[in-house]
Amino acid sequence: MAVDGPAGAGKSTVARLLAQELGYTYLDTGAMYRSVALLARRRGVSWDDAGALGLLADGIRFAFVTGTGGIRVWADGEDVSDLIRRPEISQGASQVARWPEVRSALVREQRRLGEAGGVVMEGRDIGTVVFPEAEAKIFLTATVGERARRRAAELAGAGGPADLEAVRREVEERDRRDSERAHSPLRRAEDAREFYTDGLTVPEVVRQLAAWVRAVETR
Ligand code: C5P
Repeated sequence: MAVDGPAGAGKSTVARLLAQELGYTYLDTGAMYRSVALLARRRGVSWDDAGALGLLADGIRFAFVTGTGGIRVWADGEDVSDLIRRPEISQGASQVARWPEVRSALVREQRRLGEAGGVVMEGRDIGTVVFPEAEAKIFLTATVGERARRRAAELAGAGGPADLEAVRREVEERDRRDSERAHSPLRRAEDAREFYTDGLTVPEVVRQLAAWVRAVETR
């Protein structure tokens, strides 16, 4: 099943718990775009160089490893889980995600990882491009104020900066870039169920979504 939506809507937390609840595997596709941005920066590849980024993306070996601290993301034999969460890498991810060369390499890998089913795949284009035939599609969202507050709290918890206004600008900029790009922009699939999460706790959202997915899948 597909979970798409804008930055800070709570997708990762909710999709991970939903997967647990349903006995599915959770796959975070944003982590893949983030890894491309991180490795490009390390290897001196510009976030504007579509051709070089496409080759880089095509060559990365990804692994999602479940450990005691949750799911860890490995890229080319290195645990990058913490490094890819830094704010400049969030911006870099949405820069590299503009390029069809990068997208086609990652989408191919995502389809391979999801083809057997039993997966909750989370991103921006899962219901529209990666698995348009998915049975259950969720578009998870919240008002921008709420999303900025959550992202700031997350950064503060990780010991990072938490200037709410700066975080709000960052979230808005990323949404704009993700929604306005020419290739696979962020949008709700016509057959996706939209959920606004303002004012709801995580367990409430997960409970509602799990009930909806079960109803859809037994239809
Ligand atoms: O979901 P997350 O915030 O980790 O994603 C980081 C960035 O990766 C997004 O802002 C978006 O530009 C890009 N992305 C994408 N398509 C996906 C997942 C993420 O373009 N399926």
